[in-house]
Amino acid sequence: MIFEQEALRKIFNQYDENRMRARVERDKRVEKINNNYPKLKEIDSEITKLGLENFKNILNNPEKSAEYNLSFEENLKNLKKKKEKYLIENNIPKDFDEVKYTCEKCLDTGYIDNEKCPCLIQKIIDVHYEMSNMKSMLHDFSEFSFDYYTDKKIEKLGITERENIEDIYNKSLNFCENVNSKNLLFYGGCGLGKTFLSSCIAKKMLDSGKSVVYETSVSLFSDYEDYKFGKRNDNFDETMEILYNADLLIIDDLGTEVSNPISSQFFLDIINKRAALSKKVIISTNLTMEGIRKKYTDRLFSRLYESFEILNFVGNDVRIQKLINGGK
Ligand SMILES: [Zn+2]
Repeated sequence: MIFEQEALRKIFNQYDENRMRARVERDKRVEKINNNYPKLKEIDSEITKLGLENFKNILNNPEKSAEYNLSFEENLKNLKKKKEKYLIENNIPKDFDEVKYTCEKCLDTGYIDNEKCPCLIQKIIDVHYEMSNMKSMLHDFSEFSFDYYTDKKIEKLGITERENIEDIYNKSLNFCENVNSKNLLFYGGCGLGKTFLSSCIAKKMLDSGKSVVYETSVSLFSDYEDYKFGKRNDNFDETMEILYNADLLIIDDLGTEVSNPISSQFFLDIINKRAALSKKVIISTNLTMEGIRKKYTDRLFSRLYESFEILNFVGNDVRIQKLINGGK
């Protein structure tokens, strides 16, 4: 995805900058300390000199190399001890000459042995949060309240409202965890938790590093038509790429858009292209299944019917319930 690639490029530029800055800071720190404590510089040059002398000696008398090396090691050890003692006496941190990276695990490269470092994974998650259009509406599964669904039996399903929503909740959790699960189609009246549950799924997937994008049906289809008729001058190709390639696409409020053959075809394209890429879709709608059948083409309806798990939200309007219960 172009947006994602662009964002990743920025992330890696930031890593490069961090590494460079850490090195410059180290050099400055070392220079300052060396200037303030000339003795330290002396010890360091003694260490360098020692190494050079050893090298020269071995070069001139290779047969004595073992002997030279032995005395070199001994002298080096002493000099290092001397340096350590001096650092302690002058309250200079032992690691003053080391590069201090923002992330000590990956040394600001983003990778540990070719595996993404947790710091990079978090940055990618942040990018996906931005991309999702959902940042301000995300919820956790633990926030979902079953209290608004009663023990009233739903005749056509043969279970209570509460049992029904528990089933939907579990299927939603399974949807996040099981890569082979079917797409989800949430239908039912307003305020029954369809969007809320979609946002719980979105958050769970985002937090596991997946990319998610949310669109209301109205904006999705009107943006597309504007694009089709050349009314847009922004880069909608990028948006299209995200729509096709994000790990999860959520289309909210299907049926509120003005439908026509162009939007229906686009809708079918999205479903088909995403299925070919094994990417998931959640659709929520206030329409009944009969309403969907009437509004869209038979082809689209049967495509939805076969590739989506259809879940019916039944209950009283959660928002009204909240008002009645004083916003609880
Ligand atoms: Zn890291």
